[in-house]
Amino acid sequence: MEIDSLFSDEEKMVRQMVREFVDQEILPHIEEWNREAKFPAHLVPLMADLGFFGANMQGYGCAGMSNVQYGLIMQELERGDSGLRSFVSVQGALVMYPIHAYGSDQQKERWLPALQQGKALGCFGLTEPDFGSNPAGMRTRAVKDGDHYVLNGEKAWITSGTIADVAVVWARADDGIRGFLVERGSTGFTAKDIKGKWSLRASVTSTLLLQDVRVPACNMLPKVKGMNGPLSCLTQARYGIGWGAVGVAMACYNEALEYAKVRKQFDERPIAGHQLVQEKFADMVTEITKAQLLALQVGRLKDQGRADFAHVSMLKRNNVRTALDVARAARDLLGANGVADEYPIFRHMCNLESVYTYEGTHNIHTLIIGERVTGIHAYK
Ligand SMILES: Cc1cc2nc3c(=O)[nH]c(=O)nc-3n(C[C@H](O)[C@H](O)[C@H](O)COP(=O)(O)OP(=O)(O)OC[C@H]3O[C@@H](n4cnc5c(N)ncnc54)[C@H](O)[C@@H]3O)c2cc1C
Repeated sequence: MEIDSLFSDEEKMVRQMVREFVDQEILPHIEEWNREAKFPAHLVPLMADLGFFGANMQGYGCAGMSNVQYGLIMQELERGDSGLRSFVSVQGALVMYPIHAYGSDQQKERWLPALQQGKALGCFGLTEPDFGSNPAGMRTRAVKDGDHYVLNGEKAWITSGTIADVAVVWARADDGIRGFLVERGSTGFTAKDIKGKWSLRASVTSTLLLQDVRVPACNMLPKVKGMNGPLSCLTQARYGIGWGAVGVAMACYNEALEYAKVRKQFDERPIAGHQLVQEKFADMVTEITKAQLLALQVGRLKDQGRADFAHVSMLKRNNVRTALDVARAARDLLGANGVADEYPIFRHMCNLESVYTYEGTHNIHTLIIGERVTGIHAYK
């Protein structure tokens, strides 16, 4: 469809730069990291140097890229691994973004340059053991005590929790939901990794426990109150996920296509020559093309300040479902080899199960779009 003709030279340069990084630094090692459930921390400075963290933000050392350029970074990273894309999404969209948008000057000066340079890592604590799709029900409390807040609660499934220097923790205060910057080492604040994940194994996922954690009042994000705070961050991250899903779908498609051209069954015929196999490729390439166009249109709207959360829900919902469908079809086309980690597809497929669930499950995005078109809330 000549979609490349829709990108500028600068956009294609960014894509090429990340593509080379992924080819050189991620693809040769990712199956080993995935097998060992190891987060490749040594890549953090490299990714910082290439401007990945907060790439579409201005100032504080950020690359100041357009949203389409940023999207292409996410696409290429997720072609490598969804776990590494998740790490970069959290650092930029869920940690740097709220500090940039809602923080005090002091908070911005303290954290944004360090986060951009990868000298500090962050995590985003919204989900709780009993509140996932409905975070507004959260139990974590922040009670004012002089010039401090005292935080109590538990956050679950938090990406980068145990490696973070700062956690953006959302808690219920007297005046509504508020965001707090909780620093590693604060008394009463502990993080523990969730073991035994079959998904996003190269990314750290943790539980955060807050027991009478005294946080200086100046660590509260002053410029946002209510669920709009965390939800606006999720819109930023979901946007990147919509692009990332294109990259991982392309990876699975390409792998399956190369395989099907050389794998022979029945009369020395490559399986790519069988009609039912071709139907799968026709579906995959069509759906990936549609997903690319959707990502690009939402990106262009976002660059014009005209994208809203329902556009982003459509992007995340459609593209992650497409990627998962492509991964499952590609897995099937590899036969038994499809379940081995000599090939990347099973890893991508397992990763996508998390991507389908986090940042608003597929069902929740269905209901956000449903509300937009009918004007009736089905989930509040
Ligand atoms: C690897 C990983 C990393 C994560 N990282 C983070 C992070 O960094 N920070 C963070 O805060 N959270 C994170 N999460 C949590 C994630 O956002 C939640 O898992 C997600 O919001 C879903 O919540 P839940 O798991 O409690 O599922 P539930 O909300 O219990 O949902 C279970 C099922 O019920 C469905 N459902 C629920 N309500 C409705 C409804 N009204 N109508 C129809 N269907 C419904 C859901 O769609 C889903 O199919 C992460 C999760 C994973 C797996």
